[in-house]
Amino acid sequence: MLAIRKQQRLLLAGGALTPFLVTIFERIAAREIPATIVYEDDLVLAFRDANPKAPAHVLMVPKKCIPRLAEAKAPDHAVLGHLLLKAAEVAAKLGLDKTGYRLVINNGPDGGETVPHLHIHILGGRAMGWPPG
Ligand code: 5GP
Repeated sequence: MLAIRKQQRLLLAGGALTPFLVTIFERIAAREIPATIVYEDDLVLAFRDANPKAPAHVLMVPKKCIPRLAEAKAPDHAVLGHLLLKAAEVAAKLGLDKTGYRLVINNGPDGGETVPHLHIHILGGRAMGWPPG
């Protein structure tokens, strides 16, 4: 999979493909764009959001580029479960489990999605409002 994405990047450099094929989050995972990484394993990566909406704001992404939850398929169930379990672990590592935290997945334009690479927002460090805006 990574080799394919690397090949896509090479094709991109030649102008053969449109740029959405390689996301910002893949470039963070490849260490092409700097980010404060708080957790990483073979399947997922968690890093601080560049424009935090709460005192603690971390993004948890699968290394495999699933564009959004609506495009996840049955074979993705293991990585999706892993993503959620690791989000809870990261929240605890940041000390957010004591007072609580919120997980958010934005899907599509009305959901507020801006980066087409599935990610869970882990938000904490203050009381969250409800309903969300
Ligand atoms: P979405 O709006 O798609 O749910 O969330 C995308 C998130 O990615 C936003 O909260 C935005 O601040 C964050 N983001 C966008 N570009 C970068 C970047 O280059 N680095 C980091 N760390 N976060 C980013």
